[in-house]
Amino acid sequence: MNPSPATYAPITPEIVARLREAIGEEAVVTDPDKLEPFGRDATELFHLPELLVEAVSSEQIQQLLHLANVYHFPVTPRGLGTGLTGGAVPLSGGVLLSLAKMNRILAIDPENLIAVVEPGVVTGDLRKAAQSKGLFYPPDPASVDTCSIGGNAATNAGGASCIKYGTTRSYILGLEVVLPSGEKIQAGVQTRKGVVGYDLTQLLVGSEGTLGIITRLFVKLIPLPPAVTTLVALFPDLPSAMHAVTALLTSGHLPSAIEFMDHQCLELIGDLLPFEGVQESKAFLLVETDGAPGVIEQEIEQMGEICLEHNPVNVFLAPDSYRRAQMWEVRRQVSVRIEEHAPLYIPEDVVVPLGRIAEFVETLPELAETFGMKIYSFGHAGDGNIHLNITAESRDNLQRIEEGIKAVLKRVLSMGGTISGEHGIGFAKKHLLPLELSPESIRLQQEIKRVFDPNLILNPGKIF
Ligand SMILES: Cc1cc2nc3c(=O)[nH]c(=O)nc-3n(C[C@H](O)[C@H](O)[C@H](O)COP(=O)(O)OP(=O)(O)OC[C@H]3O[C@@H](n4cnc5c(N)ncnc54)[C@H](O)[C@@H]3O)c2cc1C
Repeated sequence: MNPSPATYAPITPEIVARLREAIGEEAVVTDPDKLEPFGRDATELFHLPELLVEAVSSEQIQQLLHLANVYHFPVTPRGLGTGLTGGAVPLSGGVLLSLAKMNRILAIDPENLIAVVEPGVVTGDLRKAAQSKGLFYPPDPASVDTCSIGGNAATNAGGASCIKYGTTRSYILGLEVVLPSGEKIQAGVQTRKGVVGYDLTQLLVGSEGTLGIITRLFVKLIPLPPAVTTLVALFPDLPSAMHAVTALLTSGHLPSAIEFMDHQCLELIGDLLPFEGVQESKAFLLVETDGAPGVIEQEIEQMGEICLEHNPVNVFLAPDSYRRAQMWEVRRQVSVRIEEHAPLYIPEDVVVPLGRIAEFVETLPELAETFGMKIYSFGHAGDGNIHLNITAESRDNLQRIEEGIKAVLKRVLSMGGTISGEHGIGFAKKHLLPLELSPESIRLQQEIKRVFDPNLILNPGKIF
C-alpha cells in the first residue's frame, strides 16, 4: 500500500469544473498562494495539494468523494494541521479537504450531558462552551487551542488529564462519517451506552483519516469538577521524580494530571516558570487533583508527603490560579521551544508500563550518548507517556539518529510499552510500524482499509 502521485489521476480543468458545479465555486480553491499553508502539518513534511476544498457541509464532502472515485484522485482530510506525523500532508497530491470551516457547536445539552459538534471546532472552544454550562469535556492535548475536535477523534488525542479521564476515545459516543465511497453513515449512539453491531465508532476513532471523513461528533460531557489544586515538586534527577510518580500512582490517589520535564527542558524554559529554584533542579513534576473543595486539599497534602519521601529539592503548592495557568502555558509551549532551538528535531511519544518509567528514563542518557542525540523528555508521567524530543546540532547525522530512535523504540517494546501513545503513525512513523505490529496484524488492518476504501483514494500512503 504505497501509492505515489503517479498512481493517481492529476486534477484537470475538467475535474475542477465538475467539482465547482457539484459543490459550489466558493468551496474550491485553486490559487497556489492559498494552497501553500495546506501542504504541511506540524512536522517538516510538505507536499503542495493540487486543489483545496474548504467544505461547509457533509453533502459537499459526499460529492467530492464520489468524483474522487470516478476520476481516481486522492483526498487528504485536514483539521487544523497540528498533527505530528504528517497525517494531514497531501503526499500524493490531489485534493486537500479542509474541515476548518465546519466549526459550529450545534448543541451543548446539559440534560443529556452531550455535545454535538462539527469536526472543525477548536477543542478549547468546546471545553469553554461546556464549562459555561457547568459541564466538562476533559481531553486536553497541549495543542488544545489550535487543534480541532475532528482531528482529535481521528488521532485519538490524549493530554494531561488522560490519567484520570481517558483519551478522546472515551468521549466519542457517535460519529457521522462520509465513507470513501461518498456514502454517509451514522456510527455509534447519542446515549451513554450502545452495543448494536460492530463498534465502527471506535474503529474510526484513531484511524487517522484513512477510513472516513468525520463530519459530526456526538460527544460525552461530564459534570465540571468544582475545584482544582496543583503541586510542584522539583527533584535532583529524573529517576527520583519517576520513582515518586510510581509511588503516587500506587498510593490509592487518582490525580487529574502528573506532568514532568527533564533537566534539558528546564534549562530551555525554566526561566519562564514563575518560581525560584528551578534552574538548580534536574526534574520537574506537576501534580494536580480536582474534585470537591476540602477533599482535594487533603489529597494534595498527602501527595506532597509522598513526593517528600523521594528526596526532592523542593515541594510546594502552586500559589494562585494565575501562576498555575502560567505553568501550564510553559508546559504546553515546551515542544515549540525545543523545535525552534534545534536544527534537527524528531518528536517521539512512547509509553512504558507505569511500574517501569524510572527504569526506562535511566537508560536514556546512555542511548543518547551512543547515537549522538540530545533527548529532551517531558510529558504525561502519570500515563507512562514520555515525549522524547530527539534533537541534534546538525542534520548530517540523520542516519545515525534514526538508528538511535529505533534502539530507543526497541527498548520501549522490550519493556512491554508502545511506540506511540498519542501522535499516531501517519507518514512519519510508518516505517516503524513493523517494530510493534506483526505481519498478520498489519495485513488484517490493510484488509480493513480495503473494505472501506477499495480504490485507495482517502489519505493514501498513511499508516501502512
Ligand atoms: C504544540 C503541540 C502540542 C501537541 N500536544 C499534543 C498532546 O498533548 N496530545 C496529543 O494527542 N497530540 C498533541 N499534539 C498533536 C496534535 O495536536 C493532535 O494530533 C491533534 O489531534 C491534531 O488535530 P488537528 O485538528 O490539528 O488535525 P490535523 O493535523 O489536521 O490532522 C491529523 C490527522 O487527522 C486526520 N483528520 C483531521 N480531521 C479529520 C476529520 N474530520 N475526519 C477524518 N480525519 C481527519 C488527518 O487526515 C490527519 O491524519 C500536539 C501538537 C502540537 C503542535
